[in-house]
Amino acid sequence: MAREVKCLIIGSGPAGYMAGVYTARADLKPLLIEGMQQGGQLTITNEVENFPGFPGGAGGPVIMDKLREQALKLGVEMQPKSVAKVDFSSRPFHCQLDDGEEIIAETVIVATGASARWLHLPGEDEFRGFGVSTCATCDGNFFRNKTTVVIGGGDTALEDALYLSQLCTKVYIVHRRDQFRGTVALQKSVLATPNIEVVWSHVPVEITGEQKGFIKKVTGLKVKHAQTGEERTLEVDGVFEAIGVVPTTELFKGQLDMNEQGYLITKPDSTRTNVEGVFAAGDVQDPVFRQAVIAAGTGSMAGIEASRFLMEN
Ligand code: NAP
Repeated sequence: MAREVKCLIIGSGPAGYMAGVYTARADLKPLLIEGMQQGGQLTITNEVENFPGFPGGAGGPVIMDKLREQALKLGVEMQPKSVAKVDFSSRPFHCQLDDGEEIIAETVIVATGASARWLHLPGEDEFRGFGVSTCATCDGNFFRNKTTVVIGGGDTALEDALYLSQLCTKVYIVHRRDQFRGTVALQKSVLATPNIEVVWSHVPVEITGEQKGFIKKVTGLKVKHAQTGEERTLEVDGVFEAIGVVPTTELFKGQLDMNEQGYLITKPDSTRTNVEGVFAAGDVQDPVFRQAVIAAGTGSMAGIEASRFLMEN
């Protein structure tokens, strides 16, 4: 039999948990479906200096544990499952979980976040998991005393390079321009780290490697100068791609309005989507800032808007 709820929250990053905090306090008895990556992207972030309330910084997993605990204490029900299907064609909304359970929700808050984007280079699929990764925090430990390369010039690339520099003998950063996009504080730290070498104005071309029996390993990254086209190969044991994220919106295609990059579109100064009663918060609707603190803020907004919506309807 289908279960009826006043508010279903999909996603467990800062936006999902804060939506839980606000809807629980409004007595909506929210059900939060945590998804495949409980705690979201911050759980694979090593050190966070810019989340409020943590002077001196904290590990991403520590922050997410605290947010989760806060939501649980206020009465948010959480389930370690995923949503397989949604039908937003009429209210209440019918949603199916991956174990087949059906949830009928008067309001839905979408907080499914984003995940790492891949370059789709030659060699990438072949060596994924054998030296090619998008998560330095998860996989960096395999490259102790080895040489790695990080591709990208944003905050993630800079943070990843700094993290890897503590484990690896040498870390290259390959960036396609001659200027980083990431925060000045991180740029300064990167440029002051002796075992990080920046390969400016180069684009990655191919990941090279070798296979002996079932054992595969990365041996290099071929790069090309962005202007001259001159090629060279960096000899590395690991390749970390940090070229941005893609919003997790596949589930909502054809039902919720999205921009050309797949981010959900919300009304100005609001988390309302094109479907009345469905709200979106966090990175899934934020192509501009993509900060944990902002995701937490928009999650709170979605919680307030969902409870106001139920009062008015
Ligand atoms: P990002 O800011 O979008 O940066 C992506 C980087 O990858 C850019 O430098 C970009 O080059 C490069 N790039 C993109 N496509 C490429 C391609 N096809 N080939 C080569 N290089 C490519 O992504 P991000 O670093 O993952 O950060 C995402 C968001 O999370 C940002 O808003 C960031 O501020 C935030 N974030 C914040 C923190 C923090 O505050 N502690 C930590 C991590 C992330 P161009 O510069 O030339 O475009």
